[in-house]
Amino acid sequence: MPKILVVEDERDIALVLKNDLKLEGYDVDAVHDGLDGLERARAGGYDLILLDVMLPKKDGYAVCRELRAAGVRTPVLMLTARAQEAEKILGLELGADDYVTKPFSPLELRARVKALLRRAAPATELVETSLFGDIEVDFARAEVRRAGALIETTPIELKLLSTFIKRRGRVLTREQLLDEVWGLNSAPTDRVIDNHIMNLRRKIETDPQQPRYIVAVRGLGYRFDG
Ligand code: CA
Repeated sequence: MPKILVVEDERDIALVLKNDLKLEGYDVDAVHDGLDGLERARAGGYDLILLDVMLPKKDGYAVCRELRAAGVRTPVLMLTARAQEAEKILGLELGADDYVTKPFSPLELRARVKALLRRAAPATELVETSLFGDIEVDFARAEVRRAGALIETTPIELKLLSTFIKRRGRVLTREQLLDEVWGLNSAPTDRVIDNHIMNLRRKIETDPQQPRYIVAVRGLGYRFDG
């Protein structure tokens, strides 16, 4: 379920937005000033930010500029009350992705939200290439190289790698790996999962007996430290 942050000081508008988007199936949080908005948005976890321009404590332009300066790439839809073209362009120049002018129709807003989420989805999901140690993974070409030389990998091993890389530094249980790599239609045993991981280690670890990249976390699962 996509998660949306609404930053809007007019409580009735915030409430209408929240209820409307919830009905559309989104998970929605609302905050009512620019500082709270910036803090929440920086903490991450949102797929889209609806950002009002005129806000107490910090205006929407400043929030947007600071988010982008901090490297936060979450799509931002500005809610602007100003009809002047220059104001809209300013928002876009500061890193907003789109804007709607108040008063907006719920239909228009929903369409913009949907379009932004659709546009953003591939960018956040797709890890195209990854480098760690002397290993280079090119997911678009489905190739793994070690010190420049191509290594044979199976589709399962590539999926395992991509799952690990996306969750770098976090423990993944065998159940999570099963869900993400094998999907719901097959149910390999823990031993099968461990065997695939052993094979993958032989290909990417300098010393598969002392793995540095795919580390076992006792009683929990595995963690990728590449
Ligand atoms: Ca406002």
